[in-house]
Amino acid sequence: MKWFRRKRKLKPPEERKTVPDGLWQKCKGCGEILYGKELERNHHVCKKCGFHFRIGSSGYVKILLDDGLTEHDVMLSPLDPLKFDGYPRKIREIQERTGLKEAIIAGEGMIGGFEVEFAAMDFSFVGGSMGSVVGEKVKRAILRAKGKKIPLIIVSSSGGARMQEGILSLMQMAKTGSALAELEEARIPFISILTNPTTAGVMASYSSIGDIIISEPGALLGFAGPRVIEQTIKQKLPEGFQKAQFLLEHGFIDIIVERKDLKDTIIKVLRFFLEKN
Ligand SMILES: [Zn+2]
Repeated sequence: MKWFRRKRKLKPPEERKTVPDGLWQKCKGCGEILYGKELERNHHVCKKCGFHFRIGSSGYVKILLDDGLTEHDVMLSPLDPLKFDGYPRKIREIQERTGLKEAIIAGEGMIGGFEVEFAAMDFSFVGGSMGSVVGEKVKRAILRAKGKKIPLIIVSSSGGARMQEGILSLMQMAKTGSALAELEEARIPFISILTNPTTAGVMASYSSIGDIIISEPGALLGFAGPRVIEQTIKQKLPEGFQKAQFLLEHGFIDIIVERKDLKDTIIKVLRFFLEKN
């Protein structure tokens, strides 16, 4: 039967692809297929459901700073103090893939004409985990803010301490905390910005002790994950527990701000701190 004979032969798979990678993205919030360019114009936020895609440290430099970041401590790179199996190789691979040296970048920049010390974390680098280098870079950023008497802004995104550096990771919690106490004594403001997710060792140290704590909508924020808590206390947790909205209602964070309004909100806060007299 001629009618049913296939007229066109299917192209081999490598020729079939007409849409380049990254042109379309599926929303993790609602499943909508979104056009890459439009998503970018919308600060990588889904127009349909408001889901905030991750944009990494360079994304925040781009949307928040007036003229980019003058980066410090660029060459600080993690060592392997515990001789953890495969750790140096894993770090090398991630460095090559991401082009980053560590899970945080830090330095100076301007926001709305105000000079600030700015740091932003990167979840794509070992889950934004805090090892010795992240802790050290945060501490140095805090002390630079203190020395220059300029506000500090840290954008967090982290799964917690870096397991492969063991106790040395946990020590960063105390180190960054005590540096922030010095900053507070010097009456220099610290604005902490929480993005999805900010959890465990980072949430339990510098991220949660900002003078103003801002969160992006829908971010998962907390110490232990919900499943661990439920198994430990043997009780069901309330709906939305550890999501930004829940923490706002319970006074843990000050304000939830959509990404498109983040810069303007920070400028307002900076004005409040720096121009009120
Ligand atoms: Zn969506």
